[in-house]
Amino acid sequence: MDKTQIKLTDLERIFIGNAPVAFMLEVFFRTIIVYVALLLIMRLLGKRMSGQLTIVDFAITIMLGAIVAPPMELPDRGILQGIFILVLVLAYHRGLSWWEVKNAKVETATYGSMSILVKNGLLQTDELEKTRVSRAQLYSVLRQKKIYNLGVVERVYLEACGAFTVFKTKGSRPGLSLLPTRDKHVHGYRHDADEDEYACQHCGATEKLSTKDKACNNCGAVKWDRAVI
Ligand SMILES: [Zn+2]
Repeated sequence: MDKTQIKLTDLERIFIGNAPVAFMLEVFFRTIIVYVALLLIMRLLGKRMSGQLTIVDFAITIMLGAIVAPPMELPDRGILQGIFILVLVLAYHRGLSWWEVKNAKVETATYGSMSILVKNGLLQTDELEKTRVSRAQLYSVLRQKKIYNLGVVERVYLEACGAFTVFKTKGSRPGLSLLPTRDKHVHGYRHDADEDEYACQHCGATEKLSTKDKACNNCGAVKWDRAVI
């Protein structure tokens, strides 16, 4: 577009654009056709598209959005072109899914693999760093499952699709409190373990301590909180 054609007072260009007003009617029909084609393609892409989005589904969703816009609103763009690109995306997605089923390495490359964030009541700090999951985020997930003591957590998996799966121990054992330290009002939910039982705030390991200056046997940190049961 020529620079001299851009004028802020040119309201007709800003609101209606360069296409004739009659194009609005065409947009009406273009949108219906593209919408039906998009719904059909989404349906063919499979069930996963309607459940929790994996990164591949998310990438495809963004692409679908970009693909359907021009054939709906650009007068010089044909609808068939847009539908052809939608069908191409469907073909690529089908091809990739087929390849993932055949080859586990391809699946790991596209979706990533599962990570273990908590093992036997202990935070796997390396995995937390690798997956960029913060303690606050993990504790919030556990609190939503009504778990307030890390000691009763057998495993937390971060699934490849981004969901957390939590397994609890059968019995109870002392561990790190997951209640927010700043909000004293919720501490009525807290049942402290024995007086000398402490939990490391860095990794969740518990030890019987006579002094709080001792370094954690598991991670070496010196930051303790009374263990809860
Ligand atoms: Zn520790």
